[in-house]
Amino acid sequence: MNRQDSAGITQSHSATHGHRMVLPVEGKAWDELEELMSDARSHDARRREGRMFMSCNLAGEDVAEVAQRAYLMFFFENAFLPGAYPSIAKFETEVVAMTASLLRGDEAVGTVTTGGTEGIFLAMKAARDQARHERGVKTPEIVVPRTAYPAFVKAAHYLGFRIVRTTVDSDFKADLSALESAITKNTVLIAGSAPGLSHGVVDPIAEMAAIAAARGINFHVDAGLGGYQLAFLRKLGYPVTDYDFSVPGVTSITADLHKYAYTALGASTILYRNPDLHKYQAWELTDWAMGTHRSRNMLGTHAGGAVASAWAVMQYLGEDGYLRLTKSLRETTHRFIDGINSIPELQVWGKPEMSVFAFGSPTRDIFAIGQLMTERGWYIGRQQMEPPSIHLNVTPVHERVVDEYLGDLRECVKLVATGQPHRR
Ligand SMILES: *Cc1c(COP(=O)(O)O)cnc(C)c1O
Repeated sequence: MNRQDSAGITQSHSATHGHRMVLPVEGKAWDELEELMSDARSHDARRREGRMFMSCNLAGEDVAEVAQRAYLMFFFENAFLPGAYPSIAKFETEVVAMTASLLRGDEAVGTVTTGGTEGIFLAMKAARDQARHERGVKTPEIVVPRTAYPAFVKAAHYLGFRIVRTTVDSDFKADLSALESAITKNTVLIAGSAPGLSHGVVDPIAEMAAIAAARGINFHVDAGLGGYQLAFLRKLGYPVTDYDFSVPGVTSITADLHKYAYTALGASTILYRNPDLHKYQAWELTDWAMGTHRSRNMLGTHAGGAVASAWAVMQYLGEDGYLRLTKSLRETTHRFIDGINSIPELQVWGKPEMSVFAFGSPTRDIFAIGQLMTERGWYIGRQQMEPPSIHLNVTPVHERVVDEYLGDLRECVKLVATGQPHRR
């Protein structure tokens, strides 16, 4: 079995192969559709009950309702056409401005995108085109630590980059000397994570950015996961590795709204320290039949609802709301971490800085433990990177399940420890 598959992400797609279907001859009424669709979702992960620990950020029913209502208000508006919809343009400008202030970028400019993946594409595209134009680099290269999000590898493939993935230390942080020796005259971008999804560990951003700056290379911070949460943790006075524009040498940052800013899916941000690099993000075709076709980001038509939803949730929560949520999320996370570390067979790996972390076992088969947890209805991530681990993405909705989860975990560890039969 491919261990990465155990998360259930990749298998789900196989269902679309070879499935034949035609349109119903006659349309169905909404009541019937609603029933069919409710049935269809009956086996989906139970995110609302706090059973799901992957890629799902719920801040509570009130926030979800604001996100949903705002999205529905702008359901048919196309965010590709800000000229037609000054409302969407205003929301985008203000979301970027609020984010710039959280990321301490006085002159920062940027764009609302559809997700961290699009942001990573754009950061690489801008760096590539700037280096091509200003330094004559024809065969661009990017250097990232091995723990960087797969979208860097994907974008390298699409955009014609050579990508070098360097080693990390025993705490899962970028190894600076490996990074330094991977740089060549074609390196146009170096990136680090704040934090990486796999272990919730923040790379040594200041040191990495200094290495890049000393060579005139752009440096991108992938704060897709942590951009917002880390900003609020810092404001609350918790220790946070610096990762934003206050760090010299950081030239661009991506931060996902649809993760720990708790907005509707399909919204993220990319910010640049100043307009010099940002201008290389856009693309245009001047001789098209309908006039100049210009796009500030990668996609054409995309949902205005996602932008409206992001604006509305940020305005609804305000700094106060985010600080309150972040503080209680921090407490919930540490109940998990302390509880796991108090089980003698288990250990949290590295030094996670926010609500995402991985744990394993020096003495037991962690995947066997994971399998027993899955059988008890916990939808958890698994990681093949050595040492193997179970991955938890803790969100506010998990506050009420901590004790139940830890109770199940203690029992599952015992079952595996005493040699009970188990399946992989
Ligand atoms: C989720 C994530 C991304 C990609 O974001 P999408 O919004 O899913 O495209 C990038 N980097 C990190 C660290 C992430 O956790």
